[in-house]
Amino acid sequence: MQDRFAVAAELRKIARLLEIKGENPFKAQAYERGAAALENLDGDFAALIKAGRLQEIAGIGRALAAIIEEIYRTGECHLLQQLREELPSGAVELSELPGLSLKKIIALDEAGIKSIADLATACGEGRVSKVKGFGVKSQAKLLAEIAKRGHVQKNDELPLDQGIEEAERILSYLRGAPELSGAALAGALRRRREIVRRIVIVAASKKPRAVLDRFLGYPALAHTEALDENCCRAHLASGIRAELVVVKPEDYAGALLTETGSRRHVAKLRKIARSQSASLFPDRGHIRARSEQEIYRHLGLPLISAEMREDQGEIEAALAGKLPPLLTVDGIRGMTHCHTIYSDGRNSIEEMARAAEAMGVSYLTITDHSPTAYYAHGVGLDRLRAQWEEIDRVQERVKIKILKGTESDILADGSLDYPDAFLERFDVIIASIHARYKMNSEQMTARLLRALTLPFFKIWGHPLGRLIPSRPPFACEMEKILDAIAESRCAIEINGDPRRLDLEPRWIRAARARGIHFVISTDAHSTGALKNLSYGVAMARRGWLARSDVLNALESEAFSQAVRP
Ligand SMILES: [Zn+2]
Ligand SMILES: [Zn+2]
Repeated sequence: MQDRFAVAAELRKIARLLEIKGENPFKAQAYERGAAALENLDGDFAALIKAGRLQEIAGIGRALAAIIEEIYRTGECHLLQQLREELPSGAVELSELPGLSLKKIIALDEAGIKSIADLATACGEGRVSKVKGFGVKSQAKLLAEIAKRGHVQKNDELPLDQGIEEAERILSYLRGAPELSGAALAGALRRRREIVRRIVIVAASKKPRAVLDRFLGYPALAHTEALDENCCRAHLASGIRAELVVVKPEDYAGALLTETGSRRHVAKLRKIARSQSASLFPDRGHIRARSEQEIYRHLGLPLISAEMREDQGEIEAALAGKLPPLLTVDGIRGMTHCHTIYSDGRNSIEEMARAAEAMGVSYLTITDHSPTAYYAHGVGLDRLRAQWEEIDRVQERVKIKILKGTESDILADGSLDYPDAFLERFDVIIASIHARYKMNSEQMTARLLRALTLPFFKIWGHPLGRLIPSRPPFACEMEKILDAIAESRCAIEINGDPRRLDLEPRWIRAARARGIHFVISTDAHSTGALKNLSYGVAMARRGWLARSDVLNALESEAFSQAVRP
């Protein structure tokens, strides 16, 4: 079920698309008016729909009421689908920016610019001014417009780790309600998106009202945006938006499924259900099943993991029996990319080793910064010898295997820090960029190609250098680089630091398709940050990685062999 704000947002989308399509302006205005009416509604939206009384709201006629009801029940509507099909794929998003006519959106689409993010990058690189219908002036104006929006949106952008921590607090608080028979995280956070806009929790109870009342008493809850008998949408004091959906126990699995998958994933499941038997996935009423697995089974599919439910080919892969068995946290045998007090870490070698051992893994790689990273106290040759001696001493006291490594800077010309002859003495090398991010794409590509194809094995650390939310991935010709890596002695890191979460899933999949191997790392600068592993694994799952794609899923000896420079 969608709440009135979500339905209103869809109506506004329809209005915008009708407008850029050049339809009768009154038609677009009717959807705008309907959206405003819903946003200002002073009454129980769900109850009005159930009673078939939407048309009593001023500004909502019969046709609009039918569309509102459709969106409320299914999260989708045929009119919007039809508009999406008729218009370029970026139209929904790009039409949010003022001044973009259909003609201009088509021109952008033909130049490969299909989203606001694409547009921001293209404006930054000066490519938009060369698209037909645009100039240097309009490019600058668009960039300013995008920057303004970015600023407005930042406040409700919630990073993955904060989202999960807050959601777990809410869940454990809700579990104090005796009426609760089950509760779990849903929404984009369950899919482990790196940035989410709200926390969604689905709960089961025979007395939904009691659970909602408990939620309303959550100490960090600042104010309620919407409340009906099954759902409460609220803001926490920190500005985070949280939504609780409470259903009867028999509807729990169905609600979890529809509240977790991306809209397009769920719509596709619905379509499959419709082609079989409407009772499997009813448009109206609830899906009755004991588990999500049972729902997928009824549809002729294996259970699809939450991280994959994005409609990026997972349903087709499931139908063809080609879903990879996803990596799990338990599948990781070694902690890679750990810093210590030798560079900018907070803990000693022994403390890091013992903490990793306590987490049940059998090896860790100590990879402090190289000298060029002077701001991070990069380790020069003298101190490196001292570090290796200390590792040898610690090794005698702990069971976990400690590998001697480095996080060596990729210098501006694509060579690595430390002399070549010396590099080969490490057990493992991570090669990362820490400076000179602002090269143009061509220079950056050349730099990376040189570094990553050096004739010894290395792991490409936090590949595209993004920082969430402040620094976007740097520009380079990724396809070309992946092709080169596939031919050379290099693996790619998936960095679990919640500020990095680098590489992005779409590139993970592109690399996996080329047979490239991965390392899931923590980039831990303290013992506490070893828990970053779970975020790294989450990204790997979003990128469809199986255990066999991941080097640090190997046991100690095999891993050492695989990564030896
Ligand atoms: Zn680094
Ligand atoms: Zn690092």
